[in-house]
Amino acid sequence: AERWTEVPLAPPDAIFKLTAAFKADTYPNKVNLGVGAYRDDNDKPWVLPVVKKATDILVKDPALDHEYLPITGLPEFTSAAARLIFGSDSPVIAEERVTSVQTISGTGANHLGALFLSRFYGWNDKRVYVSDPTWVNHHQIFPLAGIPVSTYPYYDPQTIGLAFGPFLETLKNAAPRSVFLLHACAHNPTGVDPTREQWGQIADVLLEKGHFAFFDCAYQGFASGDLDNDAWAVREFVRRNVPLLVCQSFAKNAGLYGERVGALHVVSPSKEAAVRIKSQLSVLARSEISNPPAHGARLVSLILNNSELFEEWKRDIRTMAGRIIDMRKELHRLLTEELKTPGNWDHIVNQIGMFSFTGISPAQSQALVEKAHIYLTANGRISMAGLNSHNIRYFAESLDKAVR
Ligand code: PLP
Repeated sequence: AERWTEVPLAPPDAIFKLTAAFKADTYPNKVNLGVGAYRDDNDKPWVLPVVKKATDILVKDPALDHEYLPITGLPEFTSAAARLIFGSDSPVIAEERVTSVQTISGTGANHLGALFLSRFYGWNDKRVYVSDPTWVNHHQIFPLAGIPVSTYPYYDPQTIGLAFGPFLETLKNAAPRSVFLLHACAHNPTGVDPTREQWGQIADVLLEKGHFAFFDCAYQGFASGDLDNDAWAVREFVRRNVPLLVCQSFAKNAGLYGERVGALHVVSPSKEAAVRIKSQLSVLARSEISNPPAHGARLVSLILNNSELFEEWKRDIRTMAGRIIDMRKELHRLLTEELKTPGNWDHIVNQIGMFSFTGISPAQSQALVEKAHIYLTANGRISMAGLNSHNIRYFAESLDKAVR
């Protein structure tokens, strides 16, 4: 018999399918608001000037070779990455209670974190709670590692904001020692983050119930333009001794999407536990990737460990975050002041990060794709990075038409 007849055809990835449709469209004013990658004001990918500088330094280094990195990654990268997320004066770093392992960007950190918990977490109820909605890949990564996924209420379509009450209820009602995945900042896909006060209440319940926080941090600095500000929730949880790990990505904040540079950081109660955890993460990493890729980690390491480059990186981050915040303000102004579009659009400026949940229906989203050649996902999520001074008026007018 023929082989592989039993392999069913999988559906294409929704975002990548949208990008393919956008590319095939010949309409001159087409707009792509699907993709989660930064674009400059001319809709072009942006190589950060600091990354260009670091690349120049790297290629001129006569000692550069292509040997394997250690299994757990480039040590000067992982240690600097830990200082970036936890703060350079963090006691958990001074006490050597953080285990940091280089990963295949944020996706690989999620995967390695899931695999580690699947094997070694003291489960009462083996499942991970993720926000409804969340980054779609969470729904695939955890089951693949043997952890079923449940959801907690997060987004309230009525207010286009946080469903805070129901979220807290789920935290309270979950079995003790449950695992909750939290977006550290700039929630994907909603752009809705808890306030600091709400984070405090979330931490209270996590501590009360002995839950574990699985932080996914894909947008540090990219959200507000300030690296420390965007790390606030993680640092507050560490300060309050909430048991946690952090998945860290440099795809967005360093514009290194294709280099796959990230890290997994597990915080332990003791230095001795951190050593044991590292030994097991090494075993898992060895079987999956043997050694992580070197180039991106070298670039980020240069940027993080050189004060001049680090300052320049912060400026580049402010450029990206600033442009996105400007687009939010301009879209809000066009809708509310110029076009007098029906409805409340304050969420456009209240939401944070790359994405905005517009609150429009699947039918209205589809109308935008079909009638206006504006590509967005059916849930009404738009990537603010796809908007620029040339297309924002066209988008606002098309959105106005779609909701009238
Ligand atoms: N987690 C979230 C919430 C994301 O939005 C993304 C990227 O879109 C990632 C993780 C991982 O991205 P990468 O693997 O490119 O770092």
